[in-house]
Amino acid sequence: MNNKKFIEDCESRLEKKFKAVDEIAYFNQVKVMEAFREYRVALRHFNGTTGYGYDDEGRDCLGKLYAKVFGTESGIVSPHLLSGTHALTVALFGLLRPADTVFCISGMPYDTLRGVIFGEGNGSLKDFGINFEYVGLKDGKFDYEEISSSFNEKIKVVYIQRSRGYELRDAFSCAEIEEACKFVRGLGFNGCIFVDNCYGEFVEMKEPTEVGADVMAGSLIKNAGGGLAQNGGYICGKEKYIDMIGKRLTAPSIGLEVGSYSGGYQYLYQGLFMAPHTVSQAIKTGLLIGQAMAELGFKNYPSIDKTPYDITRAIEFGDADKMINFIREVQYASPVDSFVTCEPWDMPGYDEQIIMAAGTFVSGASIELSADGPVKPPYIAYFQGGLTYEHGKYALERILNKIG
Ligand SMILES: *Cc1c(COP(=O)(O)O)cnc(C)c1O
Repeated sequence: MNNKKFIEDCESRLEKKFKAVDEIAYFNQVKVMEAFREYRVALRHFNGTTGYGYDDEGRDCLGKLYAKVFGTESGIVSPHLLSGTHALTVALFGLLRPADTVFCISGMPYDTLRGVIFGEGNGSLKDFGINFEYVGLKDGKFDYEEISSSFNEKIKVVYIQRSRGYELRDAFSCAEIEEACKFVRGLGFNGCIFVDNCYGEFVEMKEPTEVGADVMAGSLIKNAGGGLAQNGGYICGKEKYIDMIGKRLTAPSIGLEVGSYSGGYQYLYQGLFMAPHTVSQAIKTGLLIGQAMAELGFKNYPSIDKTPYDITRAIEFGDADKMINFIREVQYASPVDSFVTCEPWDMPGYDEQIIMAAGTFVSGASIELSADGPVKPPYIAYFQGGLTYEHGKYALERILNKIG
């Protein structure tokens, strides 16, 4: 098969979808530009600070920018949030108190959150007397009947995970999240609606906090960091909740007035500036790979006729070797560590062996072209990222040479 011609054919079938992705990127770029202008971002904001970090303008302004872009009252953006899991953890511990219940309506939360929420004797929320209840999805969608019948007074946080994680379901759109928010409010819920927004930022023209969620959190080495952030996380939402969470991030007596970072903030600002475009490149890469794999007979999700609501794509191989070869090829097509052959491995926070391709400039950054998954039937590779569409296309060409 002529792979170049095959890829060109895939691209021509995707033209309309690519145009829609460009429109979203432009809309979100405008949002970001207006925030930068409103808060008069200047070179001094990029300076690092030391010690307690009182009056750290770079830190405070960054929080305001994120809040503005995500349509919230307040925001925390910090290199001291070590990862997505840590941002979500800090937020949940800030929001919940003993005897409260956190109620997850999007099925079982992402693997690394399970130990956080109901781990035994590891300092989990459960160890602090916080209950966990959840409702599974029905055909991949919110199960409103079950949500309604499980609803109770002790629930203080309703938890929604937007992206699929290592599950075979599609990400929720903001329209679906809006409907779910309205539904739980209709049940009389007046606590906090919380969204794990990992992989979701800038994929649509709206964010969950613009359609009814009170708080959302995510990682800066995924979408929101635009491929430039070296680490960090964000938590945005209603001021009263962000205050509670800020007291957990630092200390109850201190809140958000301390926190220095001597490394400086340029990459976090520039990353936010880049993020709408970078996310569009990742989505186009995912669409191209999805189209090509579908034509080769590999089922992938979201199916190619559907609009993607996050930057991940699950490709079902049904065979361990095929899955492992695909992931290895992604690694060989990477700018960093291209000579490395990936092996399945035991990773902290996961129950099964995971195989991961991440030949990334920022270690483990999955806004960069990467693929991973637990090695178990039906052998699904979760593919995401791509800082540039051209790199995605290059990786696809290599994959096709191997398996096409
Ligand atoms: C990536 C991810 C997280 C957090 O993961 P980290 O690796 O800790 O950044 C949480 N939830 C979902 C759905 C994710 O995709």
